[in-house]
Amino acid sequence: MTELHIHLDGSLRPETIWELAAEQGLPMPAADVSALRTLMEAPVPCGSLSEYLSRFALPMTCLQQADALERVAWELTEELAKEGMTYCELRFAPQLSTKKGMTQAQAAEAVIRGVKRGMKEFPAIRVGLLLCCMRGEGPECERANLETLELAAGLLAGGVVCGVDLAGAEEVYDTGMFRDLFSRAARYGLPYTIHAGEADGPDSVKKALDMGARRIGHGIAAARDERLMDELARYGIPLEVCITSNVQTKAAPSLKDHPIRRLYDAGVHVTLNTDNRTVSATTLPREIALAKAAFGFTDQDVERMEEYARGGAFLCL
Ligand SMILES: [Zn+2]
Repeated sequence: MTELHIHLDGSLRPETIWELAAEQGLPMPAADVSALRTLMEAPVPCGSLSEYLSRFALPMTCLQQADALERVAWELTEELAKEGMTYCELRFAPQLSTKKGMTQAQAAEAVIRGVKRGMKEFPAIRVGLLLCCMRGEGPECERANLETLELAAGLLAGGVVCGVDLAGAEEVYDTGMFRDLFSRAARYGLPYTIHAGEADGPDSVKKALDMGARRIGHGIAAARDERLMDELARYGIPLEVCITSNVQTKAAPSLKDHPIRRLYDAGVHVTLNTDNRTVSATTLPREIALAKAAFGFTDQDVERMEEYARGGAFLCL
């Protein structure tokens, strides 16, 4: 199995966060692990992307130390390997782990150590790492995003970091605001994917394409624009579709209204992903089963999506 879109900080074990909070002397975040799990999963019903993203705040308080980041990266690699994943790209935003003095570089190096440890233990899995820039505005945001790009560019030759991403509140900060940032990413030779067409419309996907994104995170709003779907299909741009997450964030109004079938039938290179294993309480095998049950995809279709994913990988396979 291959998966291109997994956020590390949305895929943490509640048991680990529980232990990390205790080790770090943080106030215990819930009465017990099962209550903590509820706080880490998307609420039912979930109102919006912003409400969904609020589920990341609590675990991030425990990920301000290098050993904690190394541990969760290793644990996720282990979990994915045990599920039969052979190639995946994990992503995280090093700038969100700098609240207690760690630098972005130290945060990225800790995650790389964890991933490498996992790959050594489970040689059947290959993991690439995407460093996320964050949507926002103002000089501090620009500085942090620039630092992320420079860090990623410097780590590219190491064979784990393989590109960058743009994450955060798409409905608040327009994709076009980050044009200069991604021109610079292109100059640095960094491959990138951009979250677009999730909480905003087809224009956001068009901007991401225009800005040189090699893949689109979600991108499902493209289904509302025939010409855009044609363009995506013609250039073979993979969409990192995350069905469960899309329904939770209201990117799709409901499961039956999710446009994955329409996109796939239009020839768009749709791939299946989890987005956030803990927040969305899912796994890739579950997303595959859901795609088959809800949209009638066959094993052959799923195999084709797998090929699209392999074709969109930022590391050489
Ligand atoms: Zn995402």
